[in-house]
Amino acid sequence: MKYAKITAGLLVLILLFLSFSKPGTHTETEFLMDTLISVTTYGSQAKTATGQVFTRLREIDKKCNAHNAESEIARLNNAPTGVVVSLDPEVFDILKIALEFSQASEGAFDVTLLPVSRLWGLSSGSPKRPDEEVLASALAKTGYQHLALDETNCTVTKEIDGVQIDLGAVAKGYAAEEAIKLLKEQGIRHAYLDLGGNIAVMGGKPLGFWESVVTGKKTRPFLIGLQQPDAPRGTIMETLSLSEGYVVTSGDYERYFEEGGKRYHHIIDPNTGYPADTHIKSVTVVSDNGTEADMLSTALFVLGSDRMELLKDRCKAIYVVDNQMNFKTVKPLTE
Ligand code: AMP
Ligand code: MG
Repeated sequence: MKYAKITAGLLVLILLFLSFSKPGTHTETEFLMDTLISVTTYGSQAKTATGQVFTRLREIDKKCNAHNAESEIARLNNAPTGVVVSLDPEVFDILKIALEFSQASEGAFDVTLLPVSRLWGLSSGSPKRPDEEVLASALAKTGYQHLALDETNCTVTKEIDGVQIDLGAVAKGYAAEEAIKLLKEQGIRHAYLDLGGNIAVMGGKPLGFWESVVTGKKTRPFLIGLQQPDAPRGTIMETLSLSEGYVVTSGDYERYFEEGGKRYHHIIDPNTGYPADTHIKSVTVVSDNGTEADMLSTALFVLGSDRMELLKDRCKAIYVVDNQMNFKTVKPLTE
């Protein structure tokens, strides 16, 4: 009788312990890559692994940020025409991927838009409408086809004057993918990362004891809220469930200014040098490839609903919010 009581007591204690114990969770947030980055990892090594992720993200930012005078990209941007510039192999690879995608998007995506986007001033904090002639001459300095890459030696040569690179629409996606790779190497199996609109998830969200008992599962998909354009940050329009992969949104509400009742935002149509005007507020892409998801969301925004067909096969799902605030599924997630 006495032993039965002790056993029952122990059982209650164990159940209480299990019900309160959650898998170790660690979240860190930092302003990096011109945006707020938040990394949540699960497991006993969560804190150490998260720290390593931020070290890696800082390294990528330092290499890729065109607005940092010390970066590899700034060095390339300052190089004169015709000079063979030797690049850090990682930056070379990102540039190569971005140039291939520029071609696939038939120029809707273009990594050489810096002379134009600088004139709009949305990254410098002093936005304004550029003078038309100045804009036209800046536009003449753009065009991804004016860069010659040598893969064997990791070198780049500018073929016309003034070409300058901006990896702003691809670096965060690449960084998200690198972060996931690093976490896997560190033995982390579950993670949720938000790199300013670039979401990366891995392994689903681990469930607590009672949730596991009730559902018979160890994890559930992460719930990813899609931002309602022009509403306060965190106002959710739709929710996606995803255990593994990347969800990236490009929107006209992220960086913009208004003048004469018109909005001028940060996604540029490389054909005109003006903010893309495709009657879209936002495009969200789901993909297994983080780098491509980032480029795709920007390119699809520029292409608009009529021309999205061009790149539709390159991702798992596409969602659009149009000018009338209608949420549309352009390509549904099928698993
Ligand atoms: P995202 O927020 O990922 O759509 O990227 C927008 C950023 O990419 C802008 O702030 C610019 O730095 C750059 N960008 C703007 N338009 C384009 C474009 N058509 N192709 C490539 N990069 C662009
Ligand atoms: Mg992008």
